[in-house]
Order: sequence, then structure tokens, then C-alpha cells
Amino acid sequence: MTAPAAGQREPRPAGLAGLRAEAAAAAPSAAEYGAGAMIACDQVVRIYAVGGTDIQALQGLDLLVAEGELTAIVGASGSGKSTLMNILAGLDVPTAGSVRVAGRDLAALGARERIAYRREVVGFVWQETSRNLLPRLTAAQNVMMPVSGASRTARARRARDLLGLLGVAHVGERRPDGMSGGEQQRTAIAVALANRPAVLLADEPTGELDSATAADVFAALRAVNIELGVTILVVTHDPAVSCYVSRTVEIRDGRTSAETWRQVTADGRGNTTRHATEYAVLDRAGRLQLPREMTEPLGMRDLVRLDPEPDHIGIWPEPGPSP
Ligand code: ADP
Ligand code: MG
Repeated sequence: MTAPAAGQREPRPAGLAGLRAEAAAAAPSAAEYGAGAMIACDQVVRIYAVGGTDIQALQGLDLLVAEGELTAIVGASGSGKSTLMNILAGLDVPTAGSVRVAGRDLAALGARERIAYRREVVGFVWQETSRNLLPRLTAAQNVMMPVSGASRTARARRARDLLGLLGVAHVGERRPDGMSGGEQQRTAIAVALANRPAVLLADEPTGELDSATAADVFAALRAVNIELGVTILVVTHDPAVSCYVSRTVEIRDGRTSAETWRQVTADGRGNTTRHATEYAVLDRAGRLQLPREMTEPLGMRDLVRLDPEPDHIGIWPEPGPSP
């Protein structure tokens, strides 16, 4: 047998061992995928069975988020954003696939560990301001409530510090009905951070706010991301979020479909420029979602032809069999 030429692959061993080697090469093990990431969603599926029909809310969603990232999740209504957030919050479990957050495999958590996870590892902020705060307590009391294992003085100090960091120190002694919507949501972020979670999840936290107030909430999220280093995922419809995050992930039909990365570069004379680059997501199963704006003008549907080139892949509309 001659040695394979450069660039050619070693022939694989035959039989079962060969098949295993092939499978391992095609799909790296779950342990490798996302090892070290703060959030690692690996082919997550969530199917709701409703009156005899299955609704596939998540259809094999992959997502990696590094520690300390501030990431926005966008997508049309019904695309699966809240389903994902509920799973990450430990309130729901996937039908298939694996989810790891801060080193914990969420499927493997027992009932008690799940409660501890929700209390200590993740904090969440919901769209409905009324769902985030206890109406009878002041802002400071709301923040002190979840803090465990500390003296009253230490909890009060924590509340003061967090409300200060979020720019709402002035509402400390007020109850939610005496605050504006934006003040309530910024207080809600303080509550969510009270126990020093590794991850903060916010599902449309500005959905009930006007745009100026929404910008304050995004700025507050960015401030705690920078000051505390907490990893943040924020679901939003608000395009203004792009000024505050360096990464936006788009979910379409229950999968991550595209990402935008923003970078600020300086030219040495003090001028800074923001660059945005949009990428399509190539998921772990090799699937790629092509934007309709690109496929429709070219009449691409059902089947396309792939043309591999040394440095790229061409995608051509398939004219179909001639009549
Ligand atoms: P988004 O937050 O992006 O608007 P959701 O995650 O709420 O989307 O919903 C995704 C899909 O799953 C939708 O089709 C929705 O109707 C469905 N869905 C969400 N929650 C449930 C549920 N508890 N029971 C049945 N279907 C649900
Ligand atoms: Mg939602």
C-alpha cells in the first residue's frame, strides 16, 4: 500500500471501529463542544404537545456564549426566544439536546439542585414589570429579599450598591407603584443580581417601555456587564440594543440563524469607527439558513446547487429539469 499523497486522508479502519471513528470525526463529543463556555446549547429541541399536535419551538438550536459576554437575542415573535430563556432559567427542560450553564448540565439537576440553580446561578428579568418586583416591598427591600446568608446590614449595603450602580438609588424607599416603568426594570435588574449570579437572563425587558427609557435599561445592562463581569443574554425587538452589545444572535424557526458582530476600531487620531459584520450560522449538523432577501431574487427554492471552490462554496439556483 502506498502512503496517501499530501492533502489526501488516511484510509479509515474498516468495520465498526471505522464507523465509530467516522462518527467521532463528523460530530465532536458533547464534552468538547462548548467546553469552557458559560452557556452551551447543543442541538436543543423543545416540542410542545398541544391537543394532539406537536409544536416544535426549538429545532436543534446551538448557541455558545463566553463568560462575560453581553449578547442580544433577536427574532420574530414565535421563533423560540422565550422557550430558550425558560430552559436557561431552569424553568423548563428541553425535549432533546443538552444545555450547560456555568458548568452545570441542566438535564442532570435534581429538584433541589434546580432550585439552587435558579436562586444562585441565574438571575432573570421579565418583560412584565409586575412580574419582577413584589408590590408591597420597597425597591431596597426587593433587592434584599433574595440575598441569602448575610447580615441585614450586609444585605442593605448590597441593595444600596446595586441600586446605585443601576442609577436608581433615589427609588430605594419607594414601592413599585411609585416608580416609572424604567425605574422598575432597572430595580428588577438589581434584584436579579442580588445573589451574584453568573448569568443574567432578560426576556424583552424593555417591551413595555418607550424608546428613551429602553435605552436607559440597555445602558444599565451594559454597566453591570462591565462592572460586575456578569454574562448577560437579553431578548429584545428593539433595534436600539445594537448600540449597547457587541454580538447579536438571531433565532429563526427555533434555531440560531445569523449573528452580527460589532467592533470599534480607533485610527490613532482619536477617531473611532463601529464596524458590523453579519454572519450566517453553520450549525453542528452542517445546516445553514439563507436569508430570504438573498434567495428570493435568485428564485432559489427547494434545491440549490453547491459549487465547492478552494476558498469558498458557491450556491446556485437549480433551474430544475428542463421540460
Ligand atoms: P418567542 O419568545 O420568540 O416569541 P416562544 O418561545 O414564546 O417564541 O414560542 C415559540 C413557539 O412555541 C410558538 O409557536 C409558541 O406558540 C409555542 N409555545 C410557546 N410556549 C408554549 C406552550 N407553553 N405550549 C404550547 N406552545 C407553546
Ligand atoms: Mg417571547
